[in-house]
Amino acid sequence: MTSVSSSEQAKFGRVLIAGGTDWPSLGRKEGKIDLRPNLMGPHILRSLCNVQVQSVHSSPSGSHFICIDTIGHAHLFGRNSPSALGSPQADPTSPSVFRPRGVGLAFDVEDLPSFESCMPHVAEFVSETRPKMISPDMVGAKKKAKFVKGVVGRGLSILIDSEGDAWVSGEDKLGQCGLSSSSSMIKNFTRIKGPWGSKKIVDGSAGVNFSLLLDEEGKVYSFGSAEFGQLGHGKTGEHIISSGKNGFEVSWEPKLIKALDDKKIVQIASGNSHSLALDSEGFVYVWGYNGYCRLGLGHQKDQLLPVVVPQFAQEKVILRAKSIACGPASSMVIDNQSMLLVAGRWKTTGEGSSGAPYTTFRFMSDMMQCKVTKVCAGSSAFFALSANPEKPAGTDEMITIGWGQAIQHGELAVGEGQPKSMTRPAKNFTLDGIKILDAACSAYTTVFLAEPSDAFSELPRHPLIEGLEDEPCAICRKNDSPGALEPLACDFCERAFHPSCLTPPLTAIPEEPEWFCPDHVTARPSFSARYDHRGMPLALSTTTGGKRKATTAAADNGKPKSGERF
Ligand SMILES: [Zn+2]
Ligand SMILES: [Zn+2]
Repeated sequence: MTSVSSSEQAKFGRVLIAGGTDWPSLGRKEGKIDLRPNLMGPHILRSLCNVQVQSVHSSPSGSHFICIDTIGHAHLFGRNSPSALGSPQADPTSPSVFRPRGVGLAFDVEDLPSFESCMPHVAEFVSETRPKMISPDMVGAKKKAKFVKGVVGRGLSILIDSEGDAWVSGEDKLGQCGLSSSSSMIKNFTRIKGPWGSKKIVDGSAGVNFSLLLDEEGKVYSFGSAEFGQLGHGKTGEHIISSGKNGFEVSWEPKLIKALDDKKIVQIASGNSHSLALDSEGFVYVWGYNGYCRLGLGHQKDQLLPVVVPQFAQEKVILRAKSIACGPASSMVIDNQSMLLVAGRWKTTGEGSSGAPYTTFRFMSDMMQCKVTKVCAGSSAFFALSANPEKPAGTDEMITIGWGQAIQHGELAVGEGQPKSMTRPAKNFTLDGIKILDAACSAYTTVFLAEPSDAFSELPRHPLIEGLEDEPCAICRKNDSPGALEPLACDFCERAFHPSCLTPPLTAIPEEPEWFCPDHVTARPSFSARYDHRGMPLALSTTTGGKRKATTAAADNGKPKSGERF
């Protein structure tokens, strides 16, 4: 293994969030009162704003996110139930637990409840204001292992590490955790064993009730429900359980998809109940549920075995595929010309809707000039990252394009006062001038990975901290400026600091777009457990399984605390 010098350090970005944050109610009709805000535009996620994030992961069938940082830790937030985030234990004495939902309680953004529970001691969600950090050693990974990928399914997460091990937590009613467990949920991240032996697992994807893993030799393994052929083994195993009720085969452990055995698969993607695989030649294979012709084969018959999509099985390499992605009821392919093609249902009206789906892969209109590098989809929102078509070819200036109908929670990130839905792809102006490195959609929420810049720093932060304008310097507690320089505001906690009060004192305002105070210059690996969303020490721990613990003297450094309500 070669050592990595500091100049070769992985590129990183900061996490932006838009859309729904009321994790327990998203996509659920009953008792629908949004206690937590819908973020109409992109916001800097304060809790991760000093974390160097390398990639962001989610899926349209999930309501949570996995952010992987440059040191190989995973940061998870969103809906937990049943145990998709590894069952963080809520403090049963915390006032936000056991509070009946939707009884007219209003919260200031500052008072966002962090945990809410319907089951005793199990948090229904992990707030984005205090993500759960998981390091490889916490799950028992090999020494030197770093997390490199996150996979999100409905109620399920898989973390893949650099040593090739895959760790799963969450819903397992239909075997989608692949552990041959008799339990209906896996409560803590547990290593998945399978027929790949000593080969490394390098990627995965998951849907509503099935999961896929990809090994380093390009073999694909599936587990979970076979109801629509989403396991790719050629059968659904449909059988009668009782009158009017049918059951389907369940694979409780990973099995090789034999139909892809002679291909070298390099990428896999899953919608709710269908999947795509891309091989090293640029051919695309599809299988699973085929409602609205989402497999792009020109018909609606479920595909029980992977089958090649004729459109991309071309002599000319330029017409083959470079990258694949799935919406819940659609499939997307970026071809070797960097053009985006879509099949299935991606709208609610007109061409592309359930009444007139794209029966085969069609070029996305309005995007013919775009060179697309990445595409992702939530329940209704779609995003593509593209080189700016208005700039000369070869430009590295990127734009973010969004579209989608029936947007309910602001997940298109177009900003306040803008039309909620967009029937046609259009440039996202709230991200103008901000380089987006990666993007991920859960069903009703969108996360972007943005390169720090002055334009980035202008974005609003979530949650807002108000009333800090008149706060004195956090060190000398004085309002006036002893030096010639204006006080600096920390990009994490927004407290003011006289440059001359810092150790060592600063003699000039830093040129970097971001500045962090001594408390926040490095991300605290455990701040999610011991610090609130401003990074202030919590007076009482709320995440230690209900055991209340007094803070140590070291944690109480006499600085103003906003976590005192705990
Ligand atoms: Zn001062
Ligand atoms: Zn700070």
